[in-house]
Amino acid sequence: MNVVRRLSTTARAGGTATTRSLGTCSTPRTVFSGIQPTGIPHLGNYLGALSNWVHLQETARSEDTFIYSVVGLHAITVSQDPTKLRRDRLDALTSLLAIGIDPKRSILFFQEDVQEHTELAWILGCLAPIGRLNRMTAYKATSPEASSDERLGLFAYPVLQAADILAYKATHVPVGEDQRQHLELTRDLATPSISNVPPKYSPFPKTPQVPPTKRILSLRDPSQKMSKSSPHVNSRILLTDTSSDIMLKIRKAITDSNFGITYDPINRPGISNLLRILHACRAPMRSHDTALEESEASTRLDDELHGATMASFKEAVADAVSARIGPIREEFARLRADEGYVRQVAREGANKAKDIASRTVREVKERIGLGQL
Ligand code: ATP
Ligand code: MG
Repeated sequence: MNVVRRLSTTARAGGTATTRSLGTCSTPRTVFSGIQPTGIPHLGNYLGALSNWVHLQETARSEDTFIYSVVGLHAITVSQDPTKLRRDRLDALTSLLAIGIDPKRSILFFQEDVQEHTELAWILGCLAPIGRLNRMTAYKATSPEASSDERLGLFAYPVLQAADILAYKATHVPVGEDQRQHLELTRDLATPSISNVPPKYSPFPKTPQVPPTKRILSLRDPSQKMSKSSPHVNSRILLTDTSSDIMLKIRKAITDSNFGITYDPINRPGISNLLRILHACRAPMRSHDTALEESEASTRLDDELHGATMASFKEAVADAVSARIGPIREEFARLRADEGYVRQVAREGANKAKDIASRTVREVKERIGLGQL
């Protein structure tokens, strides 16, 4: 049975393949993205976004700028324990270095160290329609029932995200599929007819370059995405997990009791998620990996998995994940022992980021009548 190919048509109907490259346009590009310090990044973050950050950094031209941020101001939109948050911030930045973000090539910093983000967020907040924010699905998922106890920050964080992006006039914003709506808001807030902020800003941030892997699902509940903030620790594989952690979590991953291993994202989301993980983890590091359903590798997977038991399939997935994550875990441990270096990277990154963001905010303030005469 041609498992992957045959069933892939269902998946393909859900979306079109998106390019991961920066394209061929000749103007210098500015890539911006962020990750929340809400725990060690997981496989979903890595396959859905972070691996693309590295890929873009490594395939760019010298005039392109890369700005990657650990966005603590987003993390505090839900309650945080200060001691844990302090640790998580450092862990997030360390993880970015461990996956291969090069501080000589990319600006790496803590969002809260560059005050211009909040200043621009307020200005944009004075332009953002409440009805528009009300329709944000990520917000609805976190707060299904709006009430008067709702926190303003959680409601308004897409505006802060728009400020993060517009402060650098980013032209490319590599984020996972769950952020698509926020990017659309950002584009609208930068449209002259709405805000005229910031000035001389073209092109607007491109549709996120979603890696073909797209959304990686929770191992405990394949109707949800894998997430740092889920209370179920076995729902996600961390970039620092050992091979035995990985094996255990994959063994426990919810699948189904149907016969065989087949790719069917609609009817067999758990198995299909594991198949996508297997495929993505085996793809050559930092290559233009192709979606499973469009990849030649699917034929090899068909052969390999034909007649496989669930146990042997899960073992193959765990091995592929371990092989991909192992070097990251080791590099993380090495950097963990050198916190001084990590803090220095953050300081230097913040200075560079501030140089750019403060220019934008000055321009914006002048334009709206709040700047120096
Ligand atoms: P939290 O649960 O605290 O929101 P998170 O796991 O959603 O954490 P974020 O820091 O919000 O992680 O997102 C970092 C990046 O990872 C974003 O670009 C986001 O789109 C991407 N991302 C998050 N979860 C997934 C996933 N399950 N699959 C693919 N990409 C993901
Ligand atoms: Mg998130």
